Amino acid sequence: MVVFVGMKSFVNEVAATLGGEHIYACIQCGICTASCPVAGEMEYPPRKIIAMIRAGMRDEVLSSSSMWYCLSCHLCGCRCPRKVKPTELAHALESLAVQHGYKVKKTYTPAMYRSFVSSIRANGRVHEFGMMLKFYLMTNPLAALKMLPLGLKLFLHRRMPLIPERAKGKEDLSRIIQKFREVIASQ
Ligand code: SF4
Ligand code: SF4
Repeated sequence: MVVFVGMKSFVNEVAATLGGEHIYACIQCGICTASCPVAGEMEYPPRKIIAMIRAGMRDEVLSSSSMWYCLSCHLCGCRCPRKVKPTELAHALESLAVQHGYKVKKTYTPAMYRSFVSSIRANGRVHEFGMMLKFYLMTNPLAALKMLPLGLKLFLHRRMPLIPERAKGKEDLSRIIQKFREVIASQ
């Protein structure tokens, strides 16, 4: 299905989004997909999703789970002969999907991102215990029970404190995150 946003085609919309700038350079060689360790988990692996963006398949792309599986390992970008940066492209698609209210299927990645950013905002650094507690409460609290033995070991070895340690200047970091949100929202 081809959908246009105002006078802007989907490929132009992606190219105008932070991380999507290099999409026109793709020559569809498929090296990114061949390099991607999670291509088999994605509905549409990197090469295919670029072809779909160019074909104007906005709903199919933004409602897919593909970009949410990206591990940010950058293997695709390192090997791409055209410097397309599929990692950044995946994050650009995540951003567009959230901005436009698309529901995310089959993956807990957005909940993990939210828990991570919330921990950073509150403490200026990641507090692993608080972050994981929030993540499991948002997704599947019962799954946390499986992690209890590991959590206990980490706690006993002082690798996972229950009380967060706050970093100096955490308010500055919080302001940076807020500013970033405003920039993304204004795009
Ligand atoms: S490796 Fe680069 S040029 Fe080749 S298909 Fe992937 S993004 Fe396109
Ligand atoms: S950065 Fe993402 S898309 Fe690229 S190879 Fe790694 S997991 Fe795959």
